[in-house]
Amino acid sequence: MLLDLKLAARSGLSREERAMARKSGKPKSRRKRPSGMDLEKAVKKTRKFSRPYAVGDGRKFRLKDVDPADTAGFGSEAKPAAREALQIGVETLAKLQDILYAQDRWSLLLIFQAMDAAGKDGAIKHVMSGVNPQGCQVASFKAPSSEELDHDFLWRCNKQLPERGRIGIFNRSYYEDVLVVKVHQELLEGSKLPRRLIKKNIWENRYRDIRSYERFLANNGVVVRKFFLHVSREEQKRRFLERIENPDKNWKFSASDAKERECWKDYMRAYEDMIRQTSTEESPWYVVPADNKWFTRLVVAAAVVDTLHSLGLGYPKMGPEKIRELAEVKKALLAEK
Ligand code: AMP
Ligand code: MG
Repeated sequence: MLLDLKLAARSGLSREERAMARKSGKPKSRRKRPSGMDLEKAVKKTRKFSRPYAVGDGRKFRLKDVDPADTAGFGSEAKPAAREALQIGVETLAKLQDILYAQDRWSLLLIFQAMDAAGKDGAIKHVMSGVNPQGCQVASFKAPSSEELDHDFLWRCNKQLPERGRIGIFNRSYYEDVLVVKVHQELLEGSKLPRRLIKKNIWENRYRDIRSYERFLANNGVVVRKFFLHVSREEQKRRFLERIENPDKNWKFSASDAKERECWKDYMRAYEDMIRQTSTEESPWYVVPADNKWFTRLVVAAAVVDTLHSLGLGYPKMGPEKIRELAEVKKALLAEK
């Protein structure tokens, strides 16, 4: 109900129409929301934005082949059309999430990785803006606590996996253990891993363990999709300066972010290796151009819609007994004085 009202407010209804919506508990939407055939159309319309950025089998992947400023031929004059496509994506996502939740079988895990200021938080906020918060769980992973360091690197993430019927979002993840930890190997030395296990092949082992873990998740109905928001070094600089100059954005910036920037090349190498080693057909990476926030959000929304649609979700079908029961309750309700 609350969400319906929010949607009504956003859909540009008049005050009268909104009042009616409030009374009936249902908004009278001017624009039909995607359902039935509309859903198919909406999926088709958005799919073309995500597919080109899905890596699948990563063995031939090269980071230099993806331009962070790419907008799939959309110039800035096409921004309104892109915004409309994003709106369609967000609404379709909400519709599919409702079915995912009702069906209560699959869960979807969305993993976000990126350099600082690439737009992870904004993408998560915008793409998930239409979904029912009950069906969505977000977890952020920072430098590990001493309790977390007392366990294997998958432990803290495993505890946060989405329940069936839910969408889980990881803002950073176990992939940090082949990114920041690989770039700053002293973190490994400082961890509680037995010395003997800190060898050259540790990264290969971690990639393999991640592949196995994600296969395990897939075999158990957890669908994993991974997003690397690929921002350029120049655009990061611009956004850092904005965070410093705008007092409302100061909180987003820390001097250590600028320090990590010095290791840009090492990070890019680590990202490329990670994608090559852990992108699979069943758990692909999307390498999303991130110099234009509006485009990043569109690609992510489209990928989530495409993924949910591919599951062939449907509302649970009621058996004859349940249908009989509903008919009886309906009769009793109508007979009430
Ligand atoms: P933010 O997401 O900007 O709040 O930053 C979180 C910080 O935690 C980033 O600098 C990450 O690199 C860091 N971080 C996340 N996971 C790990 C990890 N496993 N080991 C070390 N640092 C991590
Ligand atoms: Mg940060």
